[in-house]
Amino acid sequence: MENDRSKLSKKDIWNVEKLFESPEMWEKEFLFFMSEKKNEVIFPQIAEFVGKIKEGEKTLFELLNLYFEKERTLSKLYTYAHLRHDEDVAHEKHKDAFDRVSMIYYLFSKEMSWIEPEILQLNNETLEKYTNSEVLKDYRIYLEKIAYQKPHTRSIEIEEMAALAVIAMQTPQKAFGLLNNADLTFEDVVDGKGNKHKLTHGKYSLYLQSTDRVLRKSAFTTMQNTYINFENTITELIQGQVQKSLFVKRIKNYASCLEQSLYVHQIDTSVYHSLVKTVRSNLDPLYDYLALRKQVLGLEKLHLYDLYAPITEDSSMKFSYDEAKKITLESVEPLGEEYQAILAKGLGEDRWVDVYETSRKRSGAYSSGCYDSVPYILLNFEGTLRDCMTLTHEAGHSMHSYLSHKNQPYPYSHYPIFVAEVASTFNEELLFRHLLKNAKNKKEKISLIAGKLDDIRSTLFRQTMFAEFELKIHELAEKGATLSAPSLKKLYYELNHDYYGKECVIDEEVSGEYLRIPHFYYNFYVYQYATGISAALTLVEKVLREGNEARDAYLKFLSSGSSKYPIDLLKTAGVDMTTREPVITLIKYFSDLVHDLKELIQKK
Ligand SMILES: [Zn+2]
Repeated sequence: MENDRSKLSKKDIWNVEKLFESPEMWEKEFLFFMSEKKNEVIFPQIAEFVGKIKEGEKTLFELLNLYFEKERTLSKLYTYAHLRHDEDVAHEKHKDAFDRVSMIYYLFSKEMSWIEPEILQLNNETLEKYTNSEVLKDYRIYLEKIAYQKPHTRSIEIEEMAALAVIAMQTPQKAFGLLNNADLTFEDVVDGKGNKHKLTHGKYSLYLQSTDRVLRKSAFTTMQNTYINFENTITELIQGQVQKSLFVKRIKNYASCLEQSLYVHQIDTSVYHSLVKTVRSNLDPLYDYLALRKQVLGLEKLHLYDLYAPITEDSSMKFSYDEAKKITLESVEPLGEEYQAILAKGLGEDRWVDVYETSRKRSGAYSSGCYDSVPYILLNFEGTLRDCMTLTHEAGHSMHSYLSHKNQPYPYSHYPIFVAEVASTFNEELLFRHLLKNAKNKKEKISLIAGKLDDIRSTLFRQTMFAEFELKIHELAEKGATLSAPSLKKLYYELNHDYYGKECVIDEEVSGEYLRIPHFYYNFYVYQYATGISAALTLVEKVLREGNEARDAYLKFLSSGSSKYPIDLLKTAGVDMTTREPVITLIKYFSDLVHDLKELIQKK
């Protein structure tokens, strides 16, 4: 592995110069951006509009023009700074630029936070007039989405108080973040030979994937017990988070905490309930898979710390980056020549991707960019099968951004979170099928299918279990119950028992696992992993089965940004998330793959 950035070939480094020629050019634009600042106000020009939205549609039009123009420039400045910072997180100049622009982004959002509430304070008649106004036609969807919140909008005084209170209520999330990322330390874990190893968040998943069962068990037990040592404090933080939802629910007159979270995205709570109900009543394929795992691993009893252990010795599928690129491009053939050509250029001469790990480069992988940039991809490519999947995954995100940016005006160019994982998972599924079709031997096939099953298990089944836990603790709080560590531990243990218990020993320590999940501070976020992967599979099957028409519908979805609500966006693509069908389809697919895997393993 080459560690020094300056020795890498240019083709393997992302083209940040396309965004700003140099840090000096960035600095110049940043200073220009800040040049209006007067006293503590960054944009006095925009601040002058406070209280004037009711004056007429032209005033609002001018305000929104200014606002979106500034935001667009700021996101460009931010993108460059964060990409440079991630290249080398210890680079002082880049870190300084990133810190400054992050601060300005925060202050900008704060300074602009009056706009939506002031629009919402317009009376119904004016709001309707504005929404249908010719002058404001470029902002119609934006205004419609704000108007949709009107039934849950209170008087200006209450809204102001609520906004202030919600800031104070961010403490649980922040406190957990600090505990989790800074303060908490873990004891060493022990492997089968008695050697000690450091435990970190990053290493934890590696240890669970180890073939050394002693190490897996040690990692699992140590991890949960570390959090259990703080069970009262962390449960109180979760309680604080739940109380925040409850507060917003009450102030804004929602029927439930769940509705409080989903309403703004126009997602009916039945989508959430239906996911939980459908997965729960279809757990047999999961049990089949667990039974197969137990058999292949040759275990008398399967424990929770055996769920990530590889069921086949490494098939040693290795890829050079060029090979990974080639198979990624081949695999998206069902999306048509144009899609393929854009992606080929992006992964090629347009240099979207920063490929290799270098000293102090940010770990992991992502797709990121803004309206005025290409959709960059950060990788730490080492050539494993997972790395290929990651490239394909991020390329899926990037193509979604590329097409949405190209086809939508700035205000509707970002796709919403509910649909965020659809394009990426869609492409992963295409690559999986492509690799399976071209697999050279049984070992490769087993490795591919087992990997896919583990993906679905952790994205559909596990995240739905999380979603159910999150729902239950909110329902308890709605009924006035206090959330205590013993009651939540019992609840979480029982959920694990329901989801895995038929084929798996539910180790006592798992009851404390809920204490270490950061997503429980995200206000009903996790279910979207499960709905996302379900939607993606239905769409893949539709495109492969029905051809051009289905493909065009899918491409239209990729080009739609946030110009509609998420459920409608997915309907455009060809999948209806208000029905249980997509989840059923995914479970059926999982079941078929378990069957295929069983056959492969039995075949001599
Ligand atoms: Zn993703």
